Amino acid sequence: MTWSGYFDANATTPLWPVVRERYLEALDTTWQNASSLYHAAGAARRELEGAREELADALGIGQPERIVFGSGATESANLVFRHLAAKSAPDAKVMISPLEHPCVRDAAFDCFPGRVIPAPLDGSGAVDLEATAARLERDRPVLLSVMAANNETGALQPWRELGEIARGLEIPYHCDAAQWLGKMPLDEFGSVDWLTGSGHKFGAPKGTGFLVVPEGIDRLRGASVGGAQESGRRAGTENVPGILAMMTGLTEAGNLLSQVSGEARDEFEERILRSIPGTRVVGEDGPRLWNTSMLVLPAFSNLSWLTRLSHLGFQVSTGSACSAGKGHPSHVMEAMGLSPDEMGRVLRASALWSAGPDEWSGLAAALEGVWTELCQPSGEAREKRRLRL
Ligand code: PLP
Repeated sequence: MTWSGYFDANATTPLWPVVRERYLEALDTTWQNASSLYHAAGAARRELEGAREELADALGIGQPERIVFGSGATESANLVFRHLAAKSAPDAKVMISPLEHPCVRDAAFDCFPGRVIPAPLDGSGAVDLEATAARLERDRPVLLSVMAANNETGALQPWRELGEIARGLEIPYHCDAAQWLGKMPLDEFGSVDWLTGSGHKFGAPKGTGFLVVPEGIDRLRGASVGGAQESGRRAGTENVPGILAMMTGLTEAGNLLSQVSGEARDEFEERILRSIPGTRVVGEDGPRLWNTSMLVLPAFSNLSWLTRLSHLGFQVSTGSACSAGKGHPSHVMEAMGLSPDEMGRVLRASALWSAGPDEWSGLAAALEGVWTELCQPSGEAREKRRLRL
């Protein structure tokens, strides 16, 4: 299996071969409805509950009953905000970081219109702990929501500390861990009240994911209604084969972590900063995911770069898949202080676990080739015609 040239892992990942195997096997062996009462369905139910225990252990939350399996991080984030909006006072506020994925941001604005307050950032693009603590104390929101790792820049957030600060103030904390899980060591998520994750970000099938709820939540207000699956908190037949494959994906991604480091990415960036003068790396001053590099290139639109790289067999992004090509500026880049002009020159490379120095240097060579091509007078003229300058 080759995924050579694929540098869009923060958008989605292919299935690991072991996940595919597990998935196909589970489709044949645990296809029964886990709520049915006969013996064969009992096996599906046991596998499902086994996966719940395994996930609770892996996340360090220790209470499997806090896990609600679902279709991914978007559904889970919506459940968090809808539940809190339904049970909070009409003037209740929520605090989110300006870096959140649209599934958190839009759910917050939709459920708490006019009552979403931003968590302050420091100069490196991370949430500022001290300023956030002061604002939490002053504004007393009903939720603090800050992601673990940013999908566009890879910037890591101080989620453990935020969880502790929020807990000290008795303010529930939600962490969108979609980009953290599988890419960083699974850690103690014990201080996180609400946690959301998505299988397709770590080599598992699309349409799989989960929500961790605070202890004692036996009903999610604002959720779809129907069957009593997931202890009455998420109606709809559980996707047992998908859930089992997701757990294999999480384990496999964890096993692969011993082989990854940010070294090849760092060398790639050093090379590009030298060979394409005027390039800038977004978020390079703070801690970042080992697989992500967000560049602001010195000239030409990011779509010109992307299409040429695509012809050369490289798949990169102009930012988050959710905002790419939608014609509106990315709120994350805005929060990172990029001008509209710079936003049009942003390219994100996010590598799979298998990408080593050869892959990264292949991408660097391709970028250098595109730069040379675009800098030729004919390339510039074509670009100007395209932009109708
Ligand atoms: N949160 C983050 C940080 C993401 O990167 C994504 C996907 O791009 C999501 C949430 C949404 O995940 P899903 O596709 O499972 O709904």
